[in-house]
Amino acid sequence: MFYDGPPTANGKPHVGHVVTRAIKDMIPRYRTMKGYQVPRKAGWDTHGLPVELEVEKELGLDGKEQIEQYGVEPFIERCKANVWKYKGMWEEFSETVGFWADMENPYVTYYDDFIESEWWALKTIWDKGLLYKGFKIVPYCPRCGTPLSSHEVAQGYKDVKERSAIVRFKVKGEDAYFLAWTTTPWTLPSNVALCVNPEDTYCKVKAADGYTYYMAEALLENVLGRLKTEDAPAYEILETYKGKDLEYKEYEPLFKCSGDVAAKQNKKGFFVACDSYVTMSDGTGIVHIAPAFGEDDAKVGRKYDLPFVQLVDSKGEMTKETPYAGLFVKKADPEVLKDLEAEGKLFAAPKFEHSYPHCWRCNTPLIYYARESWFIKMTAVKDHLIANNNTINWIPESIGKGRFGDWLTNVQDWGLSRNRYWGTPLNIWQCSCGHMHAIGSKEELKKMSPDCPDNIELHRPFIDQVHVTCPKCGKPMTRVPEVIDCWFDSGSMPFAQYHYPFENKEVFEKNFPADFISEAVDQTRGWFYSLLAISTLLFDKAPYKNVIVLGHIQDKDGQKMSKSKGNAVDPMDALRQHGADAIRWYFYSNSAPWLPNRFHDDAVKEGRSKFMGTLWNTYAFYVLYANIDNFNPMEHTLDYEKLSVMDKWILSKLNSTIQTCDSSLENYKIPETAKHFRNLLMI
Ligand code: ZN
Ligand code: ZN
Repeated sequence: MFYDGPPTANGKPHVGHVVTRAIKDMIPRYRTMKGYQVPRKAGWDTHGLPVELEVEKELGLDGKEQIEQYGVEPFIERCKANVWKYKGMWEEFSETVGFWADMENPYVTYYDDFIESEWWALKTIWDKGLLYKGFKIVPYCPRCGTPLSSHEVAQGYKDVKERSAIVRFKVKGEDAYFLAWTTTPWTLPSNVALCVNPEDTYCKVKAADGYTYYMAEALLENVLGRLKTEDAPAYEILETYKGKDLEYKEYEPLFKCSGDVAAKQNKKGFFVACDSYVTMSDGTGIVHIAPAFGEDDAKVGRKYDLPFVQLVDSKGEMTKETPYAGLFVKKADPEVLKDLEAEGKLFAAPKFEHSYPHCWRCNTPLIYYARESWFIKMTAVKDHLIANNNTINWIPESIGKGRFGDWLTNVQDWGLSRNRYWGTPLNIWQCSCGHMHAIGSKEELKKMSPDCPDNIELHRPFIDQVHVTCPKCGKPMTRVPEVIDCWFDSGSMPFAQYHYPFENKEVFEKNFPADFISEAVDQTRGWFYSLLAISTLLFDKAPYKNVIVLGHIQDKDGQKMSKSKGNAVDPMDALRQHGADAIRWYFYSNSAPWLPNRFHDDAVKEGRSKFMGTLWNTYAFYVLYANIDNFNPMEHTLDYEKLSVMDKWILSKLNSTIQTCDSSLENYKIPETAKHFRNLLMI
């Protein structure tokens, strides 16, 4: 059994897909040649942001407000069409590269049968108490207006250089300042507290710039060292404290706006809190706290019952309470620094280089943002995830133990909901009486509704036009507005491709788990993970037994291929020029599949002339003379004893090659197989 990881047909195939298709084809083809029947159902990944963003572009829309104005129903229709934009190109590509799959009966993640299977899965997870709504800090794309899951965030890190801020917070009733450092100046207008490590040592110092500061002893030299002159030291220590001694010491709000919002909430803020997450690795040892914008901040906020000040809206723009109304947060950064400088509150604004997450689809910097969202409690099944992972044969082993194993050890709850349109609707209905209900099938939906049309389509907006009655109180229920993460779609394919459990119960059970899957290494936090996560939740079993992880393709000089660099190879051009056999042979034989492969014309040509040329010439030589002599091998029997020593030798060589190739391929060792095969020809 082979599971095909579904590509999206609204993007063109690139040269990396040649490798995945060649490797994916190799193992099922080998098993078929050994007499097995290997189902090869192709699939298409069709929901989610990638499609919505394309359609937004086509229609000239930007953001959710404009989509709503245009209308959700026509927008959904456009998405449905856009999904197939490059289907023809993908089919031609698959055929040319020799990827044998059932492209005529593929599974399609937006089909109702597929969605219904996911509804069954989500209801099962709900019934286990593992699906919940939480008010949490989530990684959030302000352009797309939706939170992302941790595995999506992991795919979009970029190195950026930004200005950070070391800020003076005026201590109340004392001519002194707390020095605190932040990498996100736009969160400062929402500041409500400062935080120190209770165990560390802090000092009150008279600095050479004339100010009196509180900060961590360990970082004095780092921060204040620059004030040193030939005549005077940078600072003089007046007193030392344990962090704990500073707890509840008050300061004046940095911005008037946060003070105003906090006053309205009748909550006390603007004092020093203590938490052990504060480290002495950088900054000043005093951390600024904005509970709406960071997980650690939120934790401190809960512990000290701090005011909740969120002066950024869901578009990532500063709200009207701030002096920066309408500015996108990253654009507000320099303005905040300018104002602090003008008011004498900015000690320094050092440049800071770090790896910051960006939206993997639209490239907007993500913000960490408190909002209500739906989660699957993956942390509750962590031990099962790890145990199930241990049953998988990872090729190479190091990824299963390292990259993937570490990911599982630090597993987080799955941020499942998306505040978008084109996706599997989250099947939770809620009633004003407080009752919530997960509907797990079309049949159940029809039973609970007086007006559900027989041909109901399980998409927005249709699903939300159906009336549903509360089984507890008889009042109308409404569905939660969210759709789900499209990675839940592709991770559900083992059962949803068969419309299990509504149909094909035996087919699914016979074909689960898969013997073999393969994708590129970026899928460790994508498909490899979502498959294992869902399968563990539903069946407590790993969904695949063997997985070959593929490295990325590089150019001649070992550079990553990309359109923007202009070094990307068009896969169809390469296939036309070299032929699929030569290219496939290159990928099988060049290096271990999980290592980066340098792909360029000369490398392919060499394999083509040396290996493919010898193979074809040998064959052509035989066929030429066999035809002249009307040779029919079926008329002859082999008398081994009468053979010459050369014939015996070549037969022995052939049989050892068959044996070694067999045992290599049985163990998913592709380059080893290529090596044995080459040795037969290159005698
Ligand atoms: Zn985005
Ligand atoms: Zn009710």
